Amino acid sequence: MFKGILIDKTEHGYTAGVRDIDDAALPDGNVTVRVAYSTLNYKDALAITGQSPVVRKFPMVPGIDLAGTVESSDHADYKTGDTVVLNGWGVGETHWGGLAQRARLNGDWLVPLPEAFTPAQAMAIGTAGYTAMLCVLALERHGITPDKGEVLVTGASGGVGSVAVAVLSKLGYRVVAVTGRPQEADYLSQLGAAQVLDRTAFNAPGKALAKERWAGAVDTVGSHTLANICASTQYRGVVTACGLAGGMDLPASVAPFILRGVTLAGIDSVMCPRPDRLQAWARLATDLDLGKLTLITHQISLAEAIPTAQKLLDGQVRGRVVVDVNA
Ligand code: NDP
Repeated sequence: MFKGILIDKTEHGYTAGVRDIDDAALPDGNVTVRVAYSTLNYKDALAITGQSPVVRKFPMVPGIDLAGTVESSDHADYKTGDTVVLNGWGVGETHWGGLAQRARLNGDWLVPLPEAFTPAQAMAIGTAGYTAMLCVLALERHGITPDKGEVLVTGASGGVGSVAVAVLSKLGYRVVAVTGRPQEADYLSQLGAAQVLDRTAFNAPGKALAKERWAGAVDTVGSHTLANICASTQYRGVVTACGLAGGMDLPASVAPFILRGVTLAGIDSVMCPRPDRLQAWARLATDLDLGKLTLITHQISLAEAIPTAQKLLDGQVRGRVVVDVNA
C-alpha cells in the first residue's frame, strides 16, 4: 500500500483526498518509481479542484511532475536506484501521476535527475520552471539577445513567471515583471526584475498597435494581456505564449505580425520532444541561481496540497510549491 491523492467523480460529485492505495491498482508501465517529491502546478490545481476538465480518466492520481528513485525497471535505460524526473506526457491527466508515494510509468517519459539538483530542487523547478526555460530557449532561438531590449514577464509572481524572471535576469536581460500583486514588488526585484508593472496596464482591451517597447516576452496570462503585449512588441520581437491564467481567448489583430514582423511562439511542455527537454534541464542547471530557487519555493505535505490547490487558483500562492509526498 502507498499514500496518494486520489480524484474521483461519481454520482456523488467530484472528490479529491489522500487515500491508502493498493500497489496492484497502479497502471501499466515498465518503470516503478518511489516518489520523493512532487509539486503543485496550475494544471494540478485545476485537476484537484475540478475547476477545469484536466482529468480525463477516473479515478486519477494527479501530479504532472515527480522526482524519485527507480524501484524496478524493465526499460533498458533505467535500473533500480536511478534517480529520475518526470514532467508531463499526460501524467496526472490520463495516467496516474506524482502526487503519491509510488508511480508506474513508461520509461520513455523519464529523464535522469540532473546532477546539479536534488529531487526537491528538481520539483521546485517542476513543469513551471522547465516551461519558463522552454520560453527562454525560444527567445534565444529567434535571436532575442540581451542587447535587443527589454523582456516582459507576465504572471511574474507565479511559478512560470518567477523562474522566468530569475533565469532571464541571470542571463543579462533587462526584465520587466507584470503582477497583480504590488506587495510582491520586492520579491520580484530580488529575483532580478529591473521594473515591476501592474497588470491592470495590460488586461483591458487595447489598440491593434501601440508604442514599440518589448524585445521579447514570456506570457503566462493570455487573453487581452497577450494581445496587448503583441501590440507593443518591437519590430521583429518575439512573444512566447505558454499560459492562460487570464483566459484562453486571444482578442488580437494581425497588425503586429504583418506590420512589425513580430513572432508569436507557442510553448508546450507536455508533449515536448525529449532532446528539447534535456536541453531545457541542462540550461536550468547552468542558468538558474539556486539561491533564487530557494527564495521562490516553499514546501508542503501531501494533505496540504488539496487546500493549497484552491489558493493557487485564487492567486494567493507565490512562486513554486514543492510537495513532500512522504510527509
Ligand atoms: P501560477 O498560478 O503559479 O501563476 C499564475 C500567475 O498568473 C499568478 O501567480 C498571477 O501572477 C497571474 N494571474 C493569475 N490570474 C490572473 C488573471 N486573471 N489575470 C492576469 N494574471 C493572472 O501558475 P503557473 O506559473 O504554474 O502557470 C502559469 C500559466 O502557464 C498557467 O496558465 C498554466 O496553465 C500555464 N502553463 C503552461 C504550460 C505549457 O506547457 N504551455 C506549462 C506550465 C504552465 P501575479 O499575481 O504576479 O499577477
